[in-house]
This record gives sequence, structure tokens and C-alpha cells, in this order.
Amino acid sequence: MSSFREAVIDLDAIAHNITQLRADIQTAHTMAVVKANAYGHGAIPVAQTALAAGADWLGVADIAEGLELRAAGIDAPILAWLHDPVTDWAPALDADIDLGISSLLQLREIAAAATTTGRAANVHIKLETGLSRNGVSESDWPELLAVAAELEATGSIRVRGIFSHLSNASAADDEAAIACFDRGLAAAASVGLTPALIHLASTAAAIRVPAARYSMVRLGIGIYGLSPFDDATSADLGLIPAMTLRSTVAAVREVTAGTGVSYDYTWRAPEDVRLALIPLGYADGIPRQASGRAPVVINSQRYTAAGRIAMDQFVVSVGHDSASVGDPAVLFGDPSTGVPSATDWADAAETVNYEIVTRIGNRVTRTYLPVIGR
Ligand SMILES: *Cc1c(COP(=O)(O)O)cnc(C)c1O
Repeated sequence: MSSFREAVIDLDAIAHNITQLRADIQTAHTMAVVKANAYGHGAIPVAQTALAAGADWLGVADIAEGLELRAAGIDAPILAWLHDPVTDWAPALDADIDLGISSLLQLREIAAAATTTGRAANVHIKLETGLSRNGVSESDWPELLAVAAELEATGSIRVRGIFSHLSNASAADDEAAIACFDRGLAAAASVGLTPALIHLASTAAAIRVPAARYSMVRLGIGIYGLSPFDDATSADLGLIPAMTLRSTVAAVREVTAGTGVSYDYTWRAPEDVRLALIPLGYADGIPRQASGRAPVVINSQRYTAAGRIAMDQFVVSVGHDSASVGDPAVLFGDPSTGVPSATDWADAAETVNYEIVTRIGNRVTRTYLPVIGR
């Protein structure tokens, strides 16, 4: 059993988080968002676990991610919403992947591909409601919705959903976006479009903004057991962090006071100390920005990364404590077990916990703990 570079993914935590969130949120449908390799946790095992735990939809950013799930034999409904400007839509239609639509051009191309392939396209119309990313602008709604209704009448497309995404900038901004979204739903209804899947909220709004829940929520960060809020921890939300990033001490050396450590000598030993080398670096997604600040537990004691985090490794001073090659080190995991959290790393790197877990690289072996029914 080597944990040289290992991300242990607790699938039971994911199952628990889905159950917990569904009980709190109570929408008719729950989408588990497994884009970006399930935020670094592994798209296929996470998708399978989420579905078994009660999610009934999977969300991905692009079609290639959806096709990977299909290739693994996953036949649950999948929505992909971010498309290459020169997409060949046929593979998505053949694989029965629902498509988010952000423009009239996409709608027309998809309808044409549906006619060619002989498979009706299931689409979800994405309305722009204030995030200023993709989505159809309010001024374009009448035309796009009218065309969508016509195409639905011809049978080339089926409008299965209408959706948008919130900025989470403030309660007032979210309220304005919800009001805008409601105008879009009314405009759709006025041309006869009343799809079953109305979805606006990702984890943050799903938990805190009941008015944003509609018939489905799209849950990403929460299913991984991390909090999207600055003022609430995972435990406060009843969630269990699913990823533990661990390693082993690869080398130990004793240095005298004043010895420089790692590139640029941004840290020098303040006294005679023992150093432990951790074989994880920014090639593995460990943020260099957290140099000199990041927390690490070695032999159940908490220390701080000393000096620059390099591509493949970084150094920790354990002071006068003992440390040996092969000793276990944990960078982050479930803080209720006494280890740092992904959020602690995010704070050290001045970023969000989403980025910490998502960037964990391919050199890091993923090991899966099974669902046991916690
Ligand atoms: C990533 C994403 C989500 C999930 O967001 P979380 O904050 O991780 O829950 C939901 N919807 C869309 C459109 C997304 O891109």
C-alpha cells in the first residue's frame, strides 16, 4: 500500500452528502454535477455513487465529458451546457445527451443535426439572467422561444428544460436574477413551452435560497462535502468532505539555524530543526501560492509548509519533533478527523476550495472507499 501521492475518495461521504442535501432541499429532481472529472474526484465512480444515492441527473460542462460517462455504461440523463463553436452535435444526439442551448445558432444547428441523425434532440434553454456568461439575452428571448416552439412542433427538438445560473454576489443580486428568470419562464409559457425541468440553483442557492430551487437543483461542491460559504463549514451543513490528499515523508534532514530551504530561500531555519520532504508539488495541483502558509499534518501533528512549494515536492519543518522517511502526511481531508480542510488550503492560497480539489493532478493516484451507508 503506497500513499506516495494519493487522493483517497470516500464514496460513502458522497452518498451521505447527496442524501443529506436531498433531504434539506426536497426538489423533484437532483442533478449531480460531475464536470472536470467530478471536481478532481473521478467522474465515473462519483457519477455511479451519486445516482445510487438518489441523484437522477448528471451535469457536465462539455459533450466530451458526457460521452465519457456514456462509454462507462452510465445511462442516466446527462446535460452538457458549454459547447465548442464548431461542435459536431451528432455524437451527443446518438449518445442521448441533453444539450444546453445559449443561442439561436446552436438551436438551429442542433435541430438540423437531429433531422440528419433521425434522433430528436433534448434541449434545455439557458437564459442569461445576470451572470454575463453564456445564455440567451432577454432581448433575444421572444425570437428564440418562438423558434424553439416551432422546432418542437416539427419533432426535431424537445425542450426538456429551461435554466440559468446565479452570481451568488448578494441576496439582492440573486433576487433580481430570479425575477428575470421568472420573466423568461412566463415568456416560454406564452409560446407553449412548459418543460418539466426548471433549474437555476447550484449548491449555494440550493441550500440558502428556497425560491431558486424550482424543479431541479444542480449540486456540485456540496456533493463533494465542501461548503460554498465563507460563514459555514462542511460540518455546519451536515456534509462530509470526500477527498483526503495524503502522502508519505520521502526524506528527512536536520539543518542548522540559518539554513535556507527550497528555491529563493524564502524561508531559513530559525534554529536547528528537522525537515521533512513531501513528494507533492504544483505539478500535482498543490498551489505554489500557498508556500510558507499551507498546513500539513505529519504523524498527527500540524505543521506549515516551509519555503517555496516546487513542481514535485515541498519541505515542512517539524522543529524538534521526530519524523522518519515513510511517515504518513495528510495535506487535507475531513477536518473533524483533525486534519486540515481543503478550505484551509484555499485560504492559504487565496483561492476557493473548488480550485484546490479540482486541480489535483493525474500523478496523484485516486483510491476509492466504498459506500457503507453512514
Ligand atoms: C459548476 C456548475 C454548477 C455546480 O456548482 P456548485 O457551486 O459546485 O454547486 C451548477 N451549474 C452550472 C451551470 C455549473 O457550471
